[in-house]
Amino acid sequence: MITADLLGIESRSIFVIDKAFAKKDYVPLDLSKDNKVLRSVDVASSDKLGEYVNEQIQLKGGKIAFGGYLETRNIYQRSAYFNQKTLPEDERNIHLGVDIWVEAGTNVLAALDGEVHSFNNNLNHGDYGPTIILKHSQGDFCYYTLYGHLSEESLLELKIGKRFKQGEAIAQLGSSEVNGDYPPHLHFQIILDIENYLGDYPGVSSLKTLEFYKKNCPDPNLLLGLT
Ligand SMILES: [Zn+2]
Repeated sequence: MITADLLGIESRSIFVIDKAFAKKDYVPLDLSKDNKVLRSVDVASSDKLGEYVNEQIQLKGGKIAFGGYLETRNIYQRSAYFNQKTLPEDERNIHLGVDIWVEAGTNVLAALDGEVHSFNNNLNHGDYGPTIILKHSQGDFCYYTLYGHLSEESLLELKIGKRFKQGEAIAQLGSSEVNGDYPPHLHFQIILDIENYLGDYPGVSSLKTLEFYKKNCPDPNLLLGLT
C-alpha cells in the first residue's frame, strides 16, 4: 500500500496547476462510460468534448475541472493507438492519472522538488503530445511524476537533470492542435517504477494489466488532495 508517508509527502494539498486557481475552484468531472449524459456528446471531437467540459465547470460553479483516476472511458475508441486489441480485456480504456481541465497556456507546476528524468513529444493521435517526467528522491527510494498534454514550447529549453523546486512552473498546457487532439488539460500521473520508458509511460490500461498499473501508479490525489 502506497501512502503519502512513503512518498515523503507532508501535505495532500499540492498544486500542479497555477495557484491562481484555488482548491475551491476545482469541480469533479465524470468522463466514464457510465456517464449517460456523455453518450449524447461526440467525445471524438475535441471541440465538442471541450464544450461539455466547460458547461460542467459553469454548472458546478467552478473554474477548473478534475477527475479520471481509474475511470473506464469510451473516448479512447477513436484512436487506433489505443485500439490494437483483439480481445475485449485487451482494450486500453482505464485511465491511470488525474486529468485537470483548464485553458491552454496555463502554468503547470512541479508537484515536488525534483529533476527532469526525460521528456518527449508523443505524437500518436490521442497520445500525450509534449510530455515531461520528473524524478523525485526520497532517501533510497525514487519515484516519478508525469505531466502530459503540454505546449511544444515547454520542451524547448529543457535538459535532462534540470532541477525544479516544488511549485515552480515547469511548462504550460498545450492546445488541442499539439496535445493529442483533446480539450486543453493536464494529465498528471505518479509512477513508482518507470521501467525503461523515456518521455512516455502508459496513461491508460486494459483490464488485463490493471492490477500491475494500479500498484505502480497510485492515486495522484495522494499529492493533490482533490478527493
Ligand atoms: Zn489523462
